[in-house]
Amino acid sequence: MIALDRVSRHYGAVAAVDNISMTVARGAFVALVGASGSGKSTLLRMMNRLETPDSGRVTIDGRAVSDEAPHRLRRRIGYVFQQHGLFPHMSVAANIAIGLRLEGRPVGDRVGEMLDLVELPRAIAGRMPDALSGGQRQRVAIARALATEPPILLLDEALGALDPVTRDSVAGRLVALHQRLGLTTLLVTHDMAEALLTATRVLVMDKGRIVADATPAQLVAGEGGEVAQGLMAVPRHQAERLAALAR
Ligand code: ADP
Ligand code: MG
Repeated sequence: MIALDRVSRHYGAVAAVDNISMTVARGAFVALVGASGSGKSTLLRMMNRLETPDSGRVTIDGRAVSDEAPHRLRRRIGYVFQQHGLFPHMSVAANIAIGLRLEGRPVGDRVGEMLDLVELPRAIAGRMPDALSGGQRQRVAIARALATEPPILLLDEALGALDPVTRDSVAGRLVALHQRLGLTTLLVTHDMAEALLTATRVLVMDKGRIVADATPAQLVAGEGGEVAQGLMAVPRHQAERLAALAR
């Protein structure tokens, strides 16, 4: 569904994305993991034209994204980033409905349905974003991204600002939503544990390149190469320490 063909993006001398070719199948849940600065956000942002490649081609459903007007493209792609990005002067309902309004589509009961979808009480529709918890805000951001029913969902460190318990619960909801709506989901994270526990395929980025493309089971089995296993060290060490505590 999403295909990149020899895509690069430089900032001065820095190759943020260095000649990457990859495809994401319809219905896949793919995590893109890597250290800070490895190029994850740049790669994701080229998919919805928030960034333009210097060279190479990004296609969605066989069509070059550069041939489509950005606003039309973004209608087909939900995008959520770390700082939730809700409009502070607009209610939860207005935030969720904004995409539909911009398209001149009827809102109907969609706000309530979207709140149900992310398992938030409908009663918060009239609240302002600053009257919500971090986890609630992030779920409203996901509801807003999905309100226009895009088939693709891009998440850039969307869970990164949440406390561990909320993060785990929102991640679980996300996987359930992905399955229920038949989405194609790409989750960017620097947290290997989050990638392993949500995605069925993990791409590892390092210095603008994809250095591993593996399943969580393969990574747990020690495959995927040096950079991938370097990122695996943290969850592995934590799991060992927890197991040791139980002995
Ligand atoms: P990640 O999301 O993995 O942390 P980014 O894609 O944000 O990585 O950044 C990759 C590299 O590109 C980094 O070296 C970063 O400093 C650089 N970079 C990203 N955006 C810009 C920009 N707008 N201007 C200059 N350099 C940038
Ligand atoms: Mg980033």
